Amino acid sequence: MKNALNSSTLLLPLLLVIFSCSAPQKNVEKTPPISSENTQSDTSVTVASPLNEQFEPTVPKGPSVFSQSCHNSEVKLSSDFAAGRMDKCKRTGKNEYSITLVPENTPINSSPWYAFKVQAEQTTDIIITMTVQGDKHRYPPKISRDGKSWQLQDYQLKGDHLIMKVQASSQPVTIAAQEIINNQYYVDWAAELTAQSAFTQSILGSSTQGRPIYKIESRAENSNEWVVILGRQHPPEITGALALFPFVETLLSNSELSKYFLRKYNVLVIPNINPDGVHAGNWRSNANGKDLNRDWNDFTQIETRLINDYLQGLVTQGQKIKFAIDFHSTKKDIFYTMPVDYGVESSYFVRHWLGELDRQMPNFDVVLRPGNNPNLGVSKQYFSDQFGVHAITYEMGDNTDRTKIKRIAYKSANILMINMLSDVDHEKE
Ligand SMILES: [Zn+2]
Repeated sequence: MKNALNSSTLLLPLLLVIFSCSAPQKNVEKTPPISSENTQSDTSVTVASPLNEQFEPTVPKGPSVFSQSCHNSEVKLSSDFAAGRMDKCKRTGKNEYSITLVPENTPINSSPWYAFKVQAEQTTDIIITMTVQGDKHRYPPKISRDGKSWQLQDYQLKGDHLIMKVQASSQPVTIAAQEIINNQYYVDWAAELTAQSAFTQSILGSSTQGRPIYKIESRAENSNEWVVILGRQHPPEITGALALFPFVETLLSNSELSKYFLRKYNVLVIPNINPDGVHAGNWRSNANGKDLNRDWNDFTQIETRLINDYLQGLVTQGQKIKFAIDFHSTKKDIFYTMPVDYGVESSYFVRHWLGELDRQMPNFDVVLRPGNNPNLGVSKQYFSDQFGVHAITYEMGDNTDRTKIKRIAYKSANILMINMLSDVDHEKE
């Protein structure tokens, strides 16, 4: 079958997206042993963890009016796991199933997420047809047999129908819009990151449905300046998460550069701001159906309020927010920045940083989109208006080569540190 969604760059690298597993599972009983596996040759830091939804806290999903499974005596399609989602499911023929994806509300950013498991008593080929209610498909399907390594699944697009043939067997396979990175993944990742270091993981507060929102901190003894890193406001934006992990690992690594950097700057990472949306497999929103990245003016949601309160508290204690990065995904790799003449300090700081990234990565086209949207309620604008500093929205393309995402993250994190430590005058071009 031919891939009709624009995913050519994803084909090869995705075959190698293997998440190694060695994370401790402290507060989970009867944890099965996890085998260790790492095929990434360019990975200087191994921080990854199992994608195992059974560890998800047992908070119920939001009410769903749709069937979350298609179950008959031979075949079972189900989405009753963390980050699972398929909305309406129907058997339409002997080995044929139809799935309709439904957004949590409308209007909504076009980001139809799905994740479901397929299993059968006898090995059998089934045909799955997926449609999106009131929208079009965005993500070409991926398949995983172990929840860790993912490959592109063959499919055809016929009009608005995405059709795929899947071999169902007693071993369940997972089919999803992107690699599944659920709430537990973040906990395990952070546990590993903070296990042998002075970095701390703690709970910032609880989400709308009572899930913990975690923060990771590195505190410098003699500095009051902070770099803030945010992620996963929008649940389906997996490539943003795939960039955040290596970016943070680089900042908090044991390199000489990192050690020096962490003596001069404090780092606050809130990698998963929307755990309810992640758990439910939402397209965009938190549990109240709100787009969190439109809530940084009004703070109507507990998730954004928690972070604002925490940052304001830091400032009250004499701390200074120096820079912020918010990780997302969109169709292409883009860095949304504040304009150099917006009036924040170190006017050319982001240009210097990303300009150097562009010079050091000749095969990667660094696209900067300066913009100023005072009433939109996005985090980037909030940081600039509240704290008078630069902030960016770091967007990776949905289909960007996964190894490339890592390379960009390592490079950009290293150059960021050098830039923040240098004596260059960022008030001048
Ligand atoms: Zn986003």
